[in-house]
Amino acid sequence: MNPFNANTSDFKTSNYSPRKSFGFEVTDQVRDSLMFIVEKFEDTYRFVICHGSLLQKFGYDPNSFNGKRLEHCLPSSHAIRRVISYDQAWKGHAVTYEDTLNGIPYMGSVSPVYDHSGEITKLQGFCVDMSEKKRVEELLKKRENYFRTLVQHHPDGIFTLNRNGEFLFNNPEVSNICGYPEEELSDNHFLKLIVPEEKEAAINYFKKASKGELLQFDTVIYHKNGHRVEIEVTNIPIMIENEVHSVYGIVKDISELRKNQKEVHFLKNRISSSIYHSADSIAIFDMNNHLVSANPAFEKFFGWKESELMGKRVPYVPEELVEEYTKRINDVKRGRNSTNIETTRIRKDGTKFYVSVTLSPLKVEDGKIVGYTSITRDIHAQKVAEHELRNKNQQYKIITEHTMDLINVFDSQGKIKYSSPSHKTILGYEDLQDRPWTDLVHPDDLPDLIESIKVLKETQQPIKTEFRLKNAHGDWIILESYGTAVLNCQKELDSIVTISRDITERKTTEDFLRKSEKLAVLGQLAAGIAHEIRNPLTSLKGFTHLLKVNATPEESEYYQIMLSELERINTIVGEFMMLAKPQPKNTKRNDLRKILQEAASLLEAQANLHNIQFVMDFDVNLEIDCEADQLKQVCINLMKNGMEAMEESGGLLFIKAIHQEDTIIVSFKDEGCGIPKEQLNHIGEPFYTTKEKGTGLGMMICNKIMENHNGLIEIESELNQGTTVKLVFPK
Ligand code: ADP
Ligand code: MG
Repeated sequence: MNPFNANTSDFKTSNYSPRKSFGFEVTDQVRDSLMFIVEKFEDTYRFVICHGSLLQKFGYDPNSFNGKRLEHCLPSSHAIRRVISYDQAWKGHAVTYEDTLNGIPYMGSVSPVYDHSGEITKLQGFCVDMSEKKRVEELLKKRENYFRTLVQHHPDGIFTLNRNGEFLFNNPEVSNICGYPEEELSDNHFLKLIVPEEKEAAINYFKKASKGELLQFDTVIYHKNGHRVEIEVTNIPIMIENEVHSVYGIVKDISELRKNQKEVHFLKNRISSSIYHSADSIAIFDMNNHLVSANPAFEKFFGWKESELMGKRVPYVPEELVEEYTKRINDVKRGRNSTNIETTRIRKDGTKFYVSVTLSPLKVEDGKIVGYTSITRDIHAQKVAEHELRNKNQQYKIITEHTMDLINVFDSQGKIKYSSPSHKTILGYEDLQDRPWTDLVHPDDLPDLIESIKVLKETQQPIKTEFRLKNAHGDWIILESYGTAVLNCQKELDSIVTISRDITERKTTEDFLRKSEKLAVLGQLAAGIAHEIRNPLTSLKGFTHLLKVNATPEESEYYQIMLSELERINTIVGEFMMLAKPQPKNTKRNDLRKILQEAASLLEAQANLHNIQFVMDFDVNLEIDCEADQLKQVCINLMKNGMEAMEESGGLLFIKAIHQEDTIIVSFKDEGCGIPKEQLNHIGEPFYTTKEKGTGLGMMICNKIMENHNGLIEIESELNQGTTVKLVFPK
């Protein structure tokens, strides 16, 4: 539909379909428009008709142009410009123009009107108000300016290409990279920059981008100066209504990076043989943190193959450590080493493990840093062990800090390194450290204790000792102590750990039990027997006295022996009762020889009866502090046991008393039946006897008496050979 064929009223009401005759939709602008017809008049033009609301907008009366020459209607310069356009039209062209009249931008179009002979007779034209379009254009320009400043200062090169691949726009960095200023680039095809061997690939990339594909690729261009520049390009298609309008590109000069990478590869080749066999994981990264090389240990540590990660970042840093790690890496890239950082890494399978990492910058000859190396050592086992050790130490600490045992650690010199806090509660000492602890040990127990420690040091076997120690109140407490040697890695003694327990109470209880249980029974018995014996003894004594008065001197001697024997029975009965009730000691200096001889003479008759002979051998000066009657009792008991062992066969009973070091030893050696090993331990228990008429009290009384004299009894025996019983007295 031609608007010029429509009458003006039609035009005005504009029942007019949208069209793009000016490259934009005219529907809205049509109200602010005018149409005109001009004809040639002399050397200029004359309006036949000019009509439309735009005329008023220009500031003219409606119809005021009709029949008037151009230069009479319009400002002269404007009229000249129109004459030029109309002249064009008069030559048979359709001409469009943009102009501004009285401040109003408009767009005009003029075309020839032919008569039937083909002659141009008139020109018809149409003008549209362009104010709105101009306003929108201004706005767009402003916006564009805004974005332009943004991209202008962008560190990467940014450009747009039209659909044909010609530059529409580029920022200064693009010019910087290729050497061409914007005006030289614009409207030029990008291919002109690309080096020949890359052209084909570049075309393909551009085609893909034109189809809407976002992609990144590396290529090479010629700089204006002629040298080659390696670039990385990211193409982003700009889509408008699902069609690619243009291609937006980001470009980076990567020549330096590539050069670095080449250098890194060169370095890699040079050092790879030396790192290949390293037990530590060694990886080389470029400045982009991309893996360049990794040795077999890397694969073993992390589970990735070198080829899998080549040219990529290695995702082995746990998320929570990434920030810290990035900081470190940046430091390394600035030339700073990061040595033996203990951290964690993730394997390909997602498991975490402890590592020690050393990061060092990788420099080429001129000192430029082109990448960095990361040396990783697997310290997982060690860390786990450390953790466990710490836990255990913690546990041990809790135990030692709260135990009621006394725990000490001594160094190899015997100095206390550690004392458990229980020393305070049990002994009352604040701190045993720096104290000569030997001062606290009972002098009688010290030699044994020192000996035990010596044994422990020599054999490195655990020992158990018992000794008395003075507490802070000055009381003796009995300690049962276990000592264990702690060895260093050379198997030498490093320290001694002792765990001691206060057993004073236990000892007292034991003693008490022994006395109360066994001896109470015995004591009661003894008291009963004693009572029974003492009465007949009294009469026996009385009558013997009587008999003695009238006896011959020879008989009198026997009566005297009888009396002294009766007296002894009396005493023994008393001693017997002593087992039940400890009696105050009544010791005197006595000669052991005398005691032994008296005992022997008492038993001589019986010995003869059984064909037994006493062989006596005494050292001189055998005086000790003792209760003679009690010791005589011991000797009689032991001699009787020896004789009873030889009752059937007869034999010799060797009685010896000698000085040995700081003791006096009295031994009774018989040639009797001997004692089976399994019975040895039972000897001395109350009522333990193997004899038909035995009491099983003899040895027990001996033990008790020897104990009262700070002595002891040792028995050695061989079955069917004989027995030796030794009394050991301290001097
Ligand atoms: P008893 O003599 O009344 O049996 P003892 O206490 O004197 O009680 O001795 C306990 C046991 O020790 C004896 O029964 C005997 O088996 C053993 N014994 C002690 N001395 C000797 C010895 N010299 N030879 C063999 N056995 C002995
Ligand atoms: Mg006996």
